[in-house]
This record gives sequence, structure tokens and C-alpha cells, in this order.
Amino acid sequence: MIVAIDGPSGAGKSTVAKAVAKELGFSCLDTGAMYRAVAWLALQKGVALDDDAALGELARGCELAFGHTPGDPAPKEVFVDGNDVTTAIRTAEIDKAVSPVSAAPSVREAMTAQQQRIGAAGDYVVEGRDIGTVVFPDAAVKVFLTASNEERAHRRVRQNVDRGVGSIDYAEVLADLVRRDEADSTRAAAPLRAADDAVQLDSTGRYIEDIIAEICGLAQGARDAGAR
Ligand code: C5P
Repeated sequence: MIVAIDGPSGAGKSTVAKAVAKELGFSCLDTGAMYRAVAWLALQKGVALDDDAALGELARGCELAFGHTPGDPAPKEVFVDGNDVTTAIRTAEIDKAVSPVSAAPSVREAMTAQQQRIGAAGDYVVEGRDIGTVVFPDAAVKVFLTASNEERAHRRVRQNVDRGVGSIDYAEVLADLVRRDEADSTRAAAPLRAADDAVQLDSTGRYIEDIIAEICGLAQGARDAGAR
């Protein structure tokens, strides 16, 4: 069964996806980390960020892997071609580079195919921008998670402090979130938008535990209705 969680940057998707996966006994797939890893590789190899053909070749040819701690549904590490990029993909430089890379149709095609292969192998909570619309349009549960710009920026700053990587300047983080949302929503290929049948949840001012419980309830309901 697939639980799709889409939404803009910093809406709390990662935290919610990990907790929901744990609760349901599902695995977790962070599709943003995949686009970030391709962006990292493009910068490493000096590939122009507007060269769709070269980016596509990179995305199709690279080996993406996730490192797991037994019993934990969320991957601890991200590897691309054997390089541990867990921390390197969270820098402000990658925040910028990932928008053009993820807008490249050939990159999206390669990542979508890979995500579909991974998801077909089991029960997954998949978070991203186009999961309910493009990657898994038949997902049993589709959630579109949002929050106010200010709350999302505060959360992202706290997350960057905890991770020890990325900007911790509120104004800079807020500007980056707004810029990325705009780029993600207006691109031609698989833009960020809620699927028509997605449940829209606004986490502004709400306890994250409530959101998690609500999504687990939706998954339980889908299961009771016979979803697989
Ligand atoms: O989720 P995260 O903020 O790590 O995603 C980084 C970027 O990857 C997004 O800003 C977006 O450009 C891209 N992305 C995407 N489609 C997805 C997941 C992420 O285009 N399914």
C-alpha cells in the first residue's frame, strides 16, 4: 500500500512521513533526497544545470542507495555512486541547485521510474511533490500537507540546527522556501500541486502528533476498505 504525502518545502512532510511509517510498519521513501542527490552529482561533475540531456544521462546512470538502521523505517544515509551524501545534500548550495535539476524532464522520468520500482516492492510512505499526481496516482491515501510560510521557515531553521547543516538564518531560509515553492509550482514537468482526490491538511498551529494520527486514521480506513 502507498501513502503519498506531497506538499511544499518545510511543511513537515519528513517528520510526518517517518512517524506514520513507523506507526503503520511501512518503509519510508524521501523522493526529495533523490533529486538532491542528482543535483549534488551534477555539481560534482560540472554538468550545466540547464542541460536536460546531460542531466538525464546522469540521473539514469547513477546508483542511488539508502542506508538503513534495522527496525527504523526511515533511511539514515543517502548514497550516490557509493558516496555518502547524507549531509552534503542538505546545504544551501543544493537547496538552490535542486530546483533546475528537478525541473529537467529527463531527470524526472528517471527518478519517477525508480520511485515506482521501489514502491512496488512493499508498503511505503512516499513524500515529495508529485507523488499523488504522477508517481503513484492510484495511491491508497493521498495527503497534501501545507503550513504558513513563516511556520515552515521556523521549522526548517530548527531542522537545520538539529542536522548541523544548511542555513540557520530565518530570512534566508524563508526566501529560499518561497523561491523553491514558486519554481516547483510553476515548472512544466510534474509541478507541485495537490491531486484532485488528496486530503488537504494545514499543519499551521497544529500539533504534529495530530497530523500523524489523522494520516494513520486515513491509512487504516483505506485498509479497512480493502486497499492493498
Ligand atoms: O523535499 P525536499 O525539500 O528535500 O525536495 C528538494 C527539491 O526536490 C524540491 O524543492 C523539488 O524541487 C524537488 N522535488 C521534486 N519532486 C519530488 C520531490 C522533490 O521536484 N517528488
